[in-house]
Amino acid sequence: MENKDYSILLYYCYASIEDTEAYREEHHLFCVEHNIRGRIIISPEGLNGTVSGLKEDCEKYMAYIHADPRFAKTEFKIDSHDKHAFAKIHVRVKPEIVHSSLRHIDPNTRTGKHLEPEEFKLLKDQEDVVILDVRSNYEHELGRFKNAITLDIDNFRDFPEKVKELEHLKNKKVLTYCTGGIKCEKASAFLLEQGFQDVYQLHGGIIKYGMEAGGEDFEGKCYVFDNRIAVDVNKVNPSVISTCHVCGTVCDRMVNCANPSCNEHLPICENCGWELEGACSVACKEHPEKRTYDGTGYYQKNTNGYNPYKGLFRRQDKEKVKHLIHGEKNPGVRTDHQS
Ligand SMILES: [Zn+2]
Ligand SMILES: [Zn+2]
Repeated sequence: MENKDYSILLYYCYASIEDTEAYREEHHLFCVEHNIRGRIIISPEGLNGTVSGLKEDCEKYMAYIHADPRFAKTEFKIDSHDKHAFAKIHVRVKPEIVHSSLRHIDPNTRTGKHLEPEEFKLLKDQEDVVILDVRSNYEHELGRFKNAITLDIDNFRDFPEKVKELEHLKNKKVLTYCTGGIKCEKASAFLLEQGFQDVYQLHGGIIKYGMEAGGEDFEGKCYVFDNRIAVDVNKVNPSVISTCHVCGTVCDRMVNCANPSCNEHLPICENCGWELEGACSVACKEHPEKRTYDGTGYYQKNTNGYNPYKGLFRRQDKEKVKHLIHGEKNPGVRTDHQS
């Protein structure tokens, strides 16, 4: 049997954080000490993270977050896995927990009505209901709800601009959804602000819907932001909706183009992947900086000088920190393909 000793956690919490830098340092230290890896964003408007770790370490991590009164209401989507889903830990301070053009919106003040997965399932096929996917092209091209309206956007910050094209839906029941629910908090609030009357959001997103409602009528796979790249959601009536970018065969295997200056997220089949060495075209295959393809099509993000250990040495336990840093360089850790 496959061992599933690791958990992958997906979560967010809209809550005011005043001491972002100090909190970043504290939060980061906790992750390093408990071998939690992944990407965490800390901002004055809250917390957002996808992390992986041993099951018992993830339990401690969730307890750590819940123990802080600001984040006591945080809900975690918990998945099992056989290894870490990230090579490193990044805890960054940013102006928003999801890059949007909606910084003025506070979902704690007003947002669309939350629907639990089972409620969403019952409502989605009713008359006068429209399902709106608020995610980007590379996400909804790989998988989406049956009959969902999708938007031609490459980034969530372009969402508000596209809402102008949805004027004709103002009097319908609009059900928004995204990967884990975080984007919908703002997207649904924005729709209300724009005069949409009846706006709902899928609480916990596609991921929670897959876990609690079997994923029924979600077509294709769900794009995720860790090295799994895509996950199965639908255990009831699964299908594949995407095709290989190179040869056109039905395919739901997502890769990032190995050419770092292209880096497109695309479905590329196993054969074409090896043929083009992980690139999306012959031109990208011949790019001088093309990364080495290992069959996964996943590459660590360029860290741009980000030092995950920044701030740690200010603590008393310098020896412990040295040990932790040294311990990171064990052979089991995947190396960064970028220089
Ligand atoms: Zn192909
Ligand atoms: Zn390319």
